[in-house]
Amino acid sequence: MLSALSRFFFIVCLAFIAAYIALINWGQIVAIASGIAILAIPLVYSYINLARLRKYVLADSVESMPLPSGFWEEVFFRLQRLVRNLKQQVRVIEQQHDRFIEAFQASPNGIVMLDDQDQIEWCNAIAERFFGLNFKRDAMQRINFLIRRPEFVQYLNRRQFEEPLLLERMSSDGNLSLMLQAFPFGDKRHLLLIQDVTDLQKADAMRRDFVANVSHEMRTPITVLMGFLETVQSLDLEKSQRDQYFDMMMSQAQRMKSLVEDLLTLANLESNTLPAPMQAVQITTMMALLKNDAEALSQGRHALNFESTTSCTLLGDERELLSAFSNLVSNAIRYTPDIGSINASWSVNPQGQGEFSVTDTGPGISPEHLPRLTERFYRVDRSRSRDTGGTGLGLAIVKHIASRHQAQLIIESTPGRGSTFILRFPKERVSE
Ligand code: ADP
Repeated sequence: MLSALSRFFFIVCLAFIAAYIALINWGQIVAIASGIAILAIPLVYSYINLARLRKYVLADSVESMPLPSGFWEEVFFRLQRLVRNLKQQVRVIEQQHDRFIEAFQASPNGIVMLDDQDQIEWCNAIAERFFGLNFKRDAMQRINFLIRRPEFVQYLNRRQFEEPLLLERMSSDGNLSLMLQAFPFGDKRHLLLIQDVTDLQKADAMRRDFVANVSHEMRTPITVLMGFLETVQSLDLEKSQRDQYFDMMMSQAQRMKSLVEDLLTLANLESNTLPAPMQAVQITTMMALLKNDAEALSQGRHALNFESTTSCTLLGDERELLSAFSNLVSNAIRYTPDIGSINASWSVNPQGQGEFSVTDTGPGISPEHLPRLTERFYRVDRSRSRDTGGTGLGLAIVKHIASRHQAQLIIESTPGRGSTFILRFPKERVSE
């Protein structure tokens, strides 16, 4: 400010000196003209710089403006610095904004921001996919015009968002289930969070089915057992008749015991997510055990052939492996009619994978049943399964044990001709 004032006095003094010299030498008119001319110099200088400033401001390129010398230099310099700082601040805010948007986009949940009129201010790609929205097209549209499910419209209108809302069958194939909740924020705005709960819903449905199945499986033997007990209690039976009833009661109790044992085995397998340990299991010993059990179960009704083409060791959990192998062998015996034959073998294929296979000449299984055989309680022939003491859990147990050993369960079957069940183990679990 001081320097501006001193500059002004300097110019005025210069104008006076020039006017005075002109007055002495050339008269009054030249003196006035030269005084005015010198006073006009800063005016012209300021006008030129104002014009330059206007040009750069209009072009939004104040930062690239060349700095003049003198009084305007400081003005331009400070202006440039101010613009540069402001732009830097805007850039930082923009980066933060982009990061928030990226974070919201990365969320596995759908997110929709609604204004106080329930108009869509913003939504992420997941929300677009869930509801078939298109943000570019639907921005600032009222959400209840776009999502017209009555339960959703009611939920929005009720304005009580403490509880989430479940929207089922949201996709065209009816498979998508969404859990949605609104959270108030800011000035009467709402954030809608939408979670895909399809898998949770399926797991819940499976759990309900499972409980229903177990109850159903238990109810039958309990009912039969109670019937026998009442008979034995109320009738005066002879010893031989009573023994007959006791045998039948024992077989029903045995059925319940098998069911509970299989359920516990399955629960143990399901709770253990780690891969099976690498204990060395002697295949020849295992095959001998299986053969003994098979002979006891078949009681001479079938031709049994057990062979092992190599005497290697399998690395896994011995108890689990025995359970899986004997499940396959006992199925073959239980489903193959008398005089049929059963072949169980162990071999190592050219890729070094170990294969345990059981082939029978039983009824075989139609192709439509094959993908569902390992589901819990899935049976092709319900009465045959029950009559032979089946629980409907055997192949589910085999499948779990296979996956804990990174093995594949392969089922090949031709109705009327027989079936082959193969457990194929990776070469890392086969040791010479
Ligand atoms: P289950 O205790 O009923 O035998 P599994 O889970 O072991 O239960 O088997 C499921 C179903 O697969 C059986 O009910 C049966 O219908 C069919 N199945 C299994 N093994 C054989 C086989 N070797 N031959 C024909 N059907 C079989």
